[in-house]
Amino acid sequence: MSDRVIPLVDQRLRSLIARVPEQAIPATGLLGDTLGRPLRDLRISVTDRCNFRCSYCMPKSIFDKDYQYLPHGELLSFEEITRIARQFVAHGVQKIRLTGGEPLLRKHLEILVEQLASLRTTEGRPLDITLTTNGSLLRKKAAALKAAGLQRVTVSLDGLDDTVFRAMNDVDFPVADVLDGIQAAQEAGLRQIKVNMVVKRGTNEDQILPMARHFKGTGVTLRFIEYMDVGATNGWRMDEVLPSAEIVRRIHAELPLVQLEPSAPGETAERWGYADGSGEIGVISSVTQAFCQDCNRARLSTEGKLYLCLFATQGHDLRALVRGQASDEQLASAIAHIWQGREDRYSELRASLPPDVSTGGRRVEMSYIGG
Ligand code: SAM
Repeated sequence: MSDRVIPLVDQRLRSLIARVPEQAIPATGLLGDTLGRPLRDLRISVTDRCNFRCSYCMPKSIFDKDYQYLPHGELLSFEEITRIARQFVAHGVQKIRLTGGEPLLRKHLEILVEQLASLRTTEGRPLDITLTTNGSLLRKKAAALKAAGLQRVTVSLDGLDDTVFRAMNDVDFPVADVLDGIQAAQEAGLRQIKVNMVVKRGTNEDQILPMARHFKGTGVTLRFIEYMDVGATNGWRMDEVLPSAEIVRRIHAELPLVQLEPSAPGETAERWGYADGSGEIGVISSVTQAFCQDCNRARLSTEGKLYLCLFATQGHDLRALVRGQASDEQLASAIAHIWQGREDRYSELRASLPPDVSTGGRRVEMSYIGG
């Protein structure tokens, strides 16, 4: 028991102090890290809880009834999140993705969306605000989120076969209710809806074509994600990864595809369009084709730690500054200082890392840092 739980809790407790540099670093919107990568995308985890127990993310054996989630007082309040987000936006962030855990479990999330929607980029434009969800609560929440200023949504769905999907979410949640959530999002006027499918070889690879056929021509973009070695609890094995190139090959054999240009720099998905013009799919190949070189994403954990990589082992504690005496300028300088020192490129280095790092023994969980 202790072998299973303590390492996770320890990882959450480890953190680096976010230092305010002696010399203020003014926010110019042009911040770069050690590899010259700009800061454009902020992912905010609003809860470490989820109502699903996907084996590749929050396996039931670890996230059981005894698992200690963060107590409410540890979580950043909506005002604290917005204050931190404002500094990130001043440094050039243009897109904010709310995630978790399951973000729709956080009560009154629409209030946070409304606060974030009032921020403006350094060019004076509204932010691109989106959300990643398992879809289970979308029917209930889509209209309020849209009214609050949410523009887009990404829904996770790992298959159309009810038996396969219920086994993967491990809480017996039916496919039909996720599809209904997607429909609710469309009815509410959310646009550019995406569906993320994590592909595990031998588990749901037979769902690739049914999913492609189902979403082709609907305006929903289906994206296939390689099963990643995030966190330390999912027992990841390389032989369970189905490379994106193979996914594209299988779809192309039945539904011809043509490769498309990326729509934005730093985009995680490689785009493929149906040759008959009936829409597109994406493949996210973070295992077989690392995209660290133009990674412009920062992650803010549920209790205010800044992580510079999905595979990081430690975050920088911004909450201590927010709950201390730091001014907005000091907070902005601290964020700039951390980003300027960033050299993370885990996925590119994966194969050459020592085993204790590459096998994930020290990594934080994705459900905590935000997907
Ligand atoms: N609960 C929300 C959801 O289901 O979308 C948001 C959080 S979830 C961690 C974000 C995304 O990460 C989901 O699309 C999920 O499938 C994906 N994910 C989680 N663990 C993964 C893994 N080991 N490999 C690839 N993708 C993973």
